[in-house]
Amino acid sequence: MLTIAHLDTFVLTAPLGSDRFYSSQAEFPERTSLLVRLTTTDGEVGWGEGGQYGPAEPVRSCLEDVLAPQLLAMRDASPGVVWDLLYARTRDFGQRGPYLEALSALDIALWDLVGKRLGAPISALIGGRHRESVHAYGTGGYYSSVAFDPDRDLRRLGDSVAEHAAQGFGMLKMKIGLLPIAEDALRVATVRERLGDGIVLAADANHAYNSQTAIAMGRVLEQHDVAFFEEPVPPEDREGYARVRDRLDLAIAGGEAEYTRWGFRDLIDAGCVDIIQPDLCVAGGISEVQRIVALASAHHLRTIPHVWGSGIAVAAALQVCSTLPLVPYTHRPVPLQNEPVIEFDRTRNPLRDDLLTTPFTLESGRVAVPDGPGLGVEVDMDVVAQYASE
Ligand SMILES: [Mg+2]
Repeated sequence: MLTIAHLDTFVLTAPLGSDRFYSSQAEFPERTSLLVRLTTTDGEVGWGEGGQYGPAEPVRSCLEDVLAPQLLAMRDASPGVVWDLLYARTRDFGQRGPYLEALSALDIALWDLVGKRLGAPISALIGGRHRESVHAYGTGGYYSSVAFDPDRDLRRLGDSVAEHAAQGFGMLKMKIGLLPIAEDALRVATVRERLGDGIVLAADANHAYNSQTAIAMGRVLEQHDVAFFEEPVPPEDREGYARVRDRLDLAIAGGEAEYTRWGFRDLIDAGCVDIIQPDLCVAGGISEVQRIVALASAHHLRTIPHVWGSGIAVAAALQVCSTLPLVPYTHRPVPLQNEPVIEFDRTRNPLRDDLLTTPFTLESGRVAVPDGPGLGVEVDMDVVAQYASE
């Protein structure tokens, strides 16, 4: 029986200074994470994360003011029981957004605790591992400025992706959508030229287009052998997604802004995507993402989790990615084609690189899945104290 005695939250903020960057949607002057720490009645500690996209404070409030009193009153706080009950009790007002991010953080922390209680990594508890390390793709190729200076920006972009490629990635993802299509076309051409044909390239628009402009950009991406086109249109535009997917040959990916099995059911049923990208810290945690993966597999869709958070988010995604099946199965897995990959963000984030006592590293293009119980990681409380705000 898992009974929770204490819930603590930590809002971590790491200013980026001159390393700030831009996507099609926003400037990133800092990185933030909302961590939750659960302590059981017998003193075991579990960690979870939520609230990566927007301000962390609403997620903290959902946790501390609404969910914590209910969690602490439960005699059995097993993750499946907690998920069903707390979701049901907040359904009328919390089907998406901060409540789901809070529930995601709780769920991850509870799985960490179950693993520690049983002395097994989470991957062993949710079906076992198909692989001990996961192919990683590097996310970078952001915008360093909103004003496009072709000489300066194309050189910077080329140098940055070349540096990532030199770290051993077999696949990289770049950002598009902040600039007019003709200028982003120059950026994609630059990246492909610097990487050569041997590296798989993906492009992420963060829903910068409508279906018509997305199709125009998608044709540019196809010319440069881009493997998938992420979030071409806003997440609410299911018809636009389906139209883009129908008109283009490259794979369409999306789902980082979707929540729960019901959100993904609708995304899948509308024929929006070839690849679903649930974020463990957003979509409902480890419990719910397993259900989402089952939905995707029923439609023969690949799952490539979105990962944007701290070391806790990376650890949770690694545990899940190690358990994902090949889609479709082949006797010999083909990396980055039917074998699952994990997103390994390369933008500066001390909360990802410094938070854990043993940071994740890339070895021959792969990241090892921790063997220890639960998430298999240890949080450095000095780093928490360094970046925590009241
Ligand atoms: Mg994205």
